[in-house]
Amino acid sequence: MEQEMEAAARLLADARHAVAFTGAGISTESGIPDFRGPRGLWKSLDPMKVAHIETFKRDPRAFWEFAASRNLSGAKPNAGHQALAELERAGLLRAVVTQNVDGLHQEAGCSRVIELHGTTRTAGCLECGRRHPREETVARVRAGENPPLCSCGGLLKPDTVLFGEPLPAEALRQAFAEAASCDMMLVLGSSLVVYPAASIPEEAARRKAPLVLVNAEPTDKDWMAEVVIHAKIGEVLPGISRRARELKQ
Ligand code: NAD
Repeated sequence: MEQEMEAAARLLADARHAVAFTGAGISTESGIPDFRGPRGLWKSLDPMKVAHIETFKRDPRAFWEFAASRNLSGAKPNAGHQALAELERAGLLRAVVTQNVDGLHQEAGCSRVIELHGTTRTAGCLECGRRHPREETVARVRAGENPPLCSCGGLLKPDTVLFGEPLPAEALRQAFAEAASCDMMLVLGSSLVVYPAASIPEEAARRKAPLVLVNAEPTDKDWMAEVVIHAKIGEVLPGISRRARELKQ
C-alpha cells in the first residue's frame, strides 16, 4: 500500500491538470450510506420505488416521506473531502466532478465542484422553477405538509437527479471538458456502474491520463487505472495529499 500511495502522490505532483471524480464512497465516512457498497441503501430499498421520476410523479407524498426520513443535515466533511480541498489550495487539483448530492466538497472548501446528479441542498418548483432550501422543505414535510408546495401552488421536487431523468446538460458538458483536458484523474469511492457518470473516468483513461483509483472494494474498472488502492479514502487520501504537496515544494 505504501508503494501505491507514493505512486499516487507522484502522479499528482507531476500533473498540470489533475481532476477528482468522486462517488458516494467518499461520504460514507461522514455517515451517509452509499448505494451499492456492503451497507448500501439499495440492499434494503428498491431504487425504482424510491428514486424514480415516475414514482415521484405518481406518489410525491411517499417520495417526500422517504426524503424526510434521511437525515443528511448533520453530515460534515471528512478527511477525504478535506484532503481534496487541501490539494486544490496547493494548486494540485483543478476540479472535482462528483456524483454526490450532499454538498460536502463545497463545505470542505473546494471551489470548483461539478455536480452530475444535482444537490440535496435545494428543492425546485415544477411549475415556476423557484428554488427552496431543502432543509426548510423537509421541515415542512415533517410538520405534516406533504407533498410540499411552492407559493405558486406548484409541486416541489428535490433538486437531485432521479432515475429516469436526464443529467443536467451544463454539468455534463463541464465534466466531459475536464475529462478531455485533465492529465491525471483521482477516482474516489465509486462503483463505476452508473452511466453516463462512469464514462467520465473512462474518457480520461481513453485519452491516456493516468487514473488513481481508491475504493473500498474492487470495481469492474480497476484495470483502467495506473494505481489501484483498495482502502478507505479517509485512511489514505490525506497521506497521498501530504506527500504530493511535499514533492511539489
Ligand atoms: P455506489 O454506492 O454505487 O458505490 C460506492 C463505492 O464506494 C462502493 O464500491 C463502495 O465499496 C465504496 N466505498 C464506500 N465507502 C468507502 C470508503 N470509505 N472509502 C472508499 N470506498 C468506499 O456509489 P456511486 O458510484 O457514487 O453511485 C452513484 C450514485 O450514488 C449516484 O447516483 C449518486 O448520486 C448516489 N449517491 C450519492 C450519495 C451522496 O451524495 N453522498 C449517497 C448515496 C448515493
